[in-house]
Amino acid sequence: MLRVQPTDKLGELEKETLANMERDGLRHTQFVKSNPEDRQRAESLGWSGKLLDFEIPDTEPRQTYDAVLDSLAGFVRCSDACAYWHKIALAEGVDFCFGKEGAVESLVKAPSTLEPGKEKVTGIRTEDGTLHTVDTVVVAVIAGPFSTQVLPELSYHLESSAGSVATFKIDRKQTELWDKYSPDKFPVITWKATPRDKAGKDTGSIYVLPRTPEGYLKIGYRGIKFTNFQPAPEGTPFTQDGKWSVPLPVDQCKTLPKPAIQAISEFVSIFLPEFEGVPFSSTKLCWYTDSLDNSFVIDYVPDYAEKSVFVCTGGSGHGAKFLPVLGEVSQCPAHITQTLIQTNISLSMLRISSRTEIKVRHTCGLFGGGDPRHTVETA
Ligand SMILES: Cc1cc2nc3c(=O)[nH]c(=O)nc-3n(C[C@H](O)[C@H](O)[C@H](O)COP(=O)(O)OP(=O)(O)OC[C@H]3O[C@@H](n4cnc5c(N)ncnc54)[C@H](O)[C@@H]3O)c2cc1C
Repeated sequence: MLRVQPTDKLGELEKETLANMERDGLRHTQFVKSNPEDRQRAESLGWSGKLLDFEIPDTEPRQTYDAVLDSLAGFVRCSDACAYWHKIALAEGVDFCFGKEGAVESLVKAPSTLEPGKEKVTGIRTEDGTLHTVDTVVVAVIAGPFSTQVLPELSYHLESSAGSVATFKIDRKQTELWDKYSPDKFPVITWKATPRDKAGKDTGSIYVLPRTPEGYLKIGYRGIKFTNFQPAPEGTPFTQDGKWSVPLPVDQCKTLPKPAIQAISEFVSIFLPEFEGVPFSSTKLCWYTDSLDNSFVIDYVPDYAEKSVFVCTGGSGHGAKFLPVLGEVSQCPAHITQTLIQTNISLSMLRISSRTEIKVRHTCGLFGGGDPRHTVETA
């Protein structure tokens, strides 16, 4: 992955990143474009082809952005990862229901005899009208940015906000482009368009992945995370002026807000010059499940008796990479979290019962949302 800097110098965040790499004995995996020794190392190790030069617009004499190639970072095809785990689960005897048969419409509740005054969840009703009673007492709710709509009890902890994604399609016959943007030759590029501000805040970034086997170049903009505030259903435990931010209906997710289009277009003109002015193949708002501290929410929901509802959600824009460990964490949260901390794996959990300890200001997108908040409608 090539971390392109906002200027021809290393930014503050990058300097801190490199210092952390040094501290952890990983500096040799990083190649700084402006550092002659690093360039030489990149050359001898076969990385130099990805340590790319990009011209800073309107500079005279011509300047290029500084950049750091991280030879540890790249990309994962998450859909393949999901398909892999699907296969494993099938082999273990798990039944999957897709479409209406798998869409939770509501939770079925009954008074608890063990905890009088509280309800427990005894099953789910799906959109095809089927009632699924549960023979274990745990219902796992993993509905990503739709989690609050299934369980409004999570409204204090979670909020949905949208990142912007656009793609270009390269035809296999466009051999030069096909070759140039292949994963072998082209790095994942991430760029912070502006330096850290005086208040110490880093901007969100914009990134592109090498083309997929089908020829798609995917660009993601996370400078502004957009919200979609709608009236919350009556009885929702936490609202902001009676509203909450939830995903837009899928047919309304194809149009990107103007600031996203502008930022992506600027990015394209600098980093993907062959596509300047070319219409996007697709655009999509992709919904994050932001939690208060950008960590997972993995816990039993205390509002329900007999530990009858368990949640594992709150990926906060970085959840996919944890797929291989989430199952273990969910089984034994306290123990595993401790292990992960000891092994320096960054994963913490926001316990639902700890709401009084939360000191973070309640705002969406947390580190990427900006203030004031940007709604899809007003952007
Ligand atoms: C633009 C963007 C970029 C990202 N980049 C990265 C990255 O670089 N690295 C990384 O690690 N993570 C990244 N993420 C985050 C990652 O995608 C999420 O953390 C991860 O997908 C969360 O998984 P999940 O299963 O909790 O939710 P999701 O993947 O959102 O899945 C939830 C599922 O629940 C289904 N569902 C919704 N409602 C119901 C219902 N009522 N009944 C049944 N099913 C329902 C949905 O259809 C969906 O299939 C990114 C996210 C976005 C939006």
